[in-house]
Amino acid sequence: MEYEQLMPFVEVPQGKKSFFVTLADYVTIEDGTGIVHTAPAFGEDDYNTGMQYGLPVLNPVDDSGRFRGTPWSDMFVIDADQPILKWLHENGVLYKKEIFAHNYPHCWRCHTPLLYYARPSWYIQMTKLKDLLVSNNNTVSWYPDYVGEKRFGNWLENVNDWAISRSRYWGTPLPIWKCECGHQESIGSRKELAEKAVEKIDENKIELHRPFVDEVHIVCPECGQHMTRVKDVIDCWFDSGSMPFAQWHYPFEN
Ligand SMILES: [Zn+2]
Ligand SMILES: [Zn+2]
Repeated sequence: MEYEQLMPFVEVPQGKKSFFVTLADYVTIEDGTGIVHTAPAFGEDDYNTGMQYGLPVLNPVDDSGRFRGTPWSDMFVIDADQPILKWLHENGVLYKKEIFAHNYPHCWRCHTPLLYYARPSWYIQMTKLKDLLVSNNNTVSWYPDYVGEKRFGNWLENVNDWAISRSRYWGTPLPIWKCECGHQESIGSRKELAEKAVEKIDENKIELHRPFVDEVHIVCPECGQHMTRVKDVIDCWFDSGSMPFAQWHYPFEN
């Protein structure tokens, strides 16, 4: 069943069916009306449903939580609730309005309401390594043995791809440089960085954290322009997981 786009402000990919009724097993009549609006850019369940039905991922909100390119451009999304209701009413598409208490995610530290975004991230394709992980786990003598079989074994059976990038400032910088032409390069050592750097850097002294590492550029082998490091840092669990090897400077001295 299809319906018309309620508000015509966000451009939809031409020829792509974008407004229709889907099914999802997390929608129940015990909780609310049994009808849920799905916005694939703003929630994990929504995103998964969107992928399943080929819905476009539309996002009119920028990183500061403000609308872009609607009549509420520059307005913080939560402040736009009333103006949007007014617009719906004026355009004859408001059926009913009422105040409804429901759960909403908040920051556990400062209790600020949170906005969910679908955004591009860097992943390690752990699902590709699953068979190897499971077979290695089977050679480990776990004590008590059910931990290896059940807790860790089950976890490995259901292993997901690992989203390792974090859009934060502090942390181990992601060693990936990008060029405007689209070329990407992953730098594997201090030596390699020093060799490829445009700036003159001392391999033994370069501080590899932000902001210093962001001042290092490398020459694109495809087009000759300067490449810049992607801004993300790495999930701190990656540091933890590297520790047993890194403390012995594996796989090389620096
Ligand atoms: Zn907070
Ligand atoms: Zn390039």
